[in-house]
Amino acid sequence: MQPDYSRQLLLKEIGAQGQAALGRARVLIVGLGGLGSPVLQYLAGAGVGCLGLIDADALDASNLHRQPIYALSDVGRPKVELAQAAVAAINPAVRVETHGARLDADNALGLIRAYDIVVDCSDNFRTKFLINDAAVLAHRPAVFASVYQYEGQLQVYKPDPQHACLRCLWPDAVSDGVVGNCAEAGVLGPVPGAFGALQAMLCLKILLNMSGQLGGELLLLDLTNFSSSKLKAPRRAECVAPACAHIHELAREDSSIEVMLESLDAAAQQGLEVIDIRTAQEIAERPAGARHIPMADLLANPRLLEPTRKFLLVCATGRRSLAAARQLRTQGIAVHSLSGGLQALR
Ligand SMILES: [Zn+2]
Repeated sequence: MQPDYSRQLLLKEIGAQGQAALGRARVLIVGLGGLGSPVLQYLAGAGVGCLGLIDADALDASNLHRQPIYALSDVGRPKVELAQAAVAAINPAVRVETHGARLDADNALGLIRAYDIVVDCSDNFRTKFLINDAAVLAHRPAVFASVYQYEGQLQVYKPDPQHACLRCLWPDAVSDGVVGNCAEAGVLGPVPGAFGALQAMLCLKILLNMSGQLGGELLLLDLTNFSSSKLKAPRRAECVAPACAHIHELAREDSSIEVMLESLDAAAQQGLEVIDIRTAQEIAERPAGARHIPMADLLANPRLLEPTRKFLLVCATGRRSLAAARQLRTQGIAVHSLSGGLQALR
């Protein structure tokens, strides 16, 4: 069966010309979770010609409440494969390019250059700033969303004088761990769903050259009371072509920060003391038998770790421990993160 775009072709802003523009467009979606799911559904439905999908994760059962494009029977399978199948089911005319990797300083610029727009559907600040910096350097528009519990914000960067980049607003990149992620802070499924739908809307507006692209504005939306506000977010004078003065090069990191192990016992053999940074509730459900310092306490008081020793931070999936290790390393503490987290040990 052929895709039918008749309901959007009726809009005077779209028409045959707009539909053809969508058909020629290439959009990169970074992260295939709660934000990425609605983004890829709406862009596939709209007939965007090519979607690039990047995500290194496998589906976890705890993802499904906010990522309903996936099925419980698919737990454990790579999200890029599942998302590719979801796009094909909605619109087989859309070409999909899968990238089963994590966006990093080595691949970010090349990937973002290969697309017309990048949509930030990541759940961590490090990736958001990496996308920002690469988008500015590559002169590509980027649509950002951040969600925290019941609220979130939207921002659009475009290579023009109106649109601020993330570093125009936050010249000193925000660290992960200061603001909780879904694993720690909790989230109700429709919250990222709503923001992902708005990201898809902004992406289509950019591709169709429609008005209302959040130029110089940051949109805040709180779903507890449905209040919304737009803050002025002007581009800084020092953020001009060819790039924002706050961007020097894409941030790289020491690849040894993540450690792969068969068991926690192997950590001691490498001279690493294991620190379990999960919540007390998580530990009660699945004890690991290691020293416990909750992530928030550790980041608030890094001196809990003796400066002469080396540590291995562990959490459920390796995401929080990596974020915490990155932050503690900036304070000169010798920390590593267990790659894949405790769930990878089995
Ligand atoms: Zn800037």
